[in-house]
Amino acid sequence: MRSYLLNYKQQLEVIKGLSIDKDTQARIDCPFCNGRNTLSIDTSDNKISWYCFHASCSAKGRQQGQKDIHYVQKVFHGNKDLHIEDKDFVMPDSFQSIYSNKKAMNWLSNNNCWESWSWGRADFKYDVKQDRVVFLIKNNITHKIVGAVGRALNKKDFPKWYMYGNKDVPFKCGVCDDAVIVEDCPSACAVSNILTGISIMGTSIKDSHLDHIRPYKNLYVCLDRDATVKSYTIAKELRSSGFDNVIVKPLEDDLKYYNTEQIRRMFYESKDDRETL
Ligand SMILES: [Zn+2]
Repeated sequence: MRSYLLNYKQQLEVIKGLSIDKDTQARIDCPFCNGRNTLSIDTSDNKISWYCFHASCSAKGRQQGQKDIHYVQKVFHGNKDLHIEDKDFVMPDSFQSIYSNKKAMNWLSNNNCWESWSWGRADFKYDVKQDRVVFLIKNNITHKIVGAVGRALNKKDFPKWYMYGNKDVPFKCGVCDDAVIVEDCPSACAVSNILTGISIMGTSIKDSHLDHIRPYKNLYVCLDRDATVKSYTIAKELRSSGFDNVIVKPLEDDLKYYNTEQIRRMFYESKDDRETL
């Protein structure tokens, strides 16, 4: 299959020929390998990017469009998520494609992260220098990468979580009306089909997080099981900062160990159903 693959320019022509609407994120049949539903395509933020998940197809690419007036307005007017926090983050050379390390891929799959990636909500790398699976932190308006968080793949490595670059922007995953504040990035990814996951990378809220957790309808606080008391502390802090939509949700296990259906039931079905989990 690979030898027939078109070059970037040719692929781009084919992709443009599909006439995908603006601001679309979708999975479609791959025009290069004919794989069923294997091509992920994203035309949001004035770009076109595509990626085929078929094992024997290497179709992928990205083209950034001209920054139109719409984009400029979005960036410069009244956008709370845009901050001076947005210093340039230079991605280390040691960050490689997540595909380059099987252990990293397995880890993501075991922690229910994979789907968020296939839908383009999260971006992962493998840090070959530190042997870590890396979650890129983006400013969710500019889509600029402002930092990264790496999880050690080797039990002996310390710290378990390592923060690269910016430490003030939470890792966010998903675009749902309700959001849930969680401890770590995989939990934020795991919930993202159902709720927007916001990882504060620890158990305390910083002032710099507040603007990033404002626009939601219901705001759940759902730290890992061993930090339930902290969840209540955070809820109290948020309420005193003016949030009137905070709900603490004690857990029986960390969110990253639940699949989408279990998470949906946990948050959106009656208590009785929940107990049958
Ligand atoms: Zn393909």
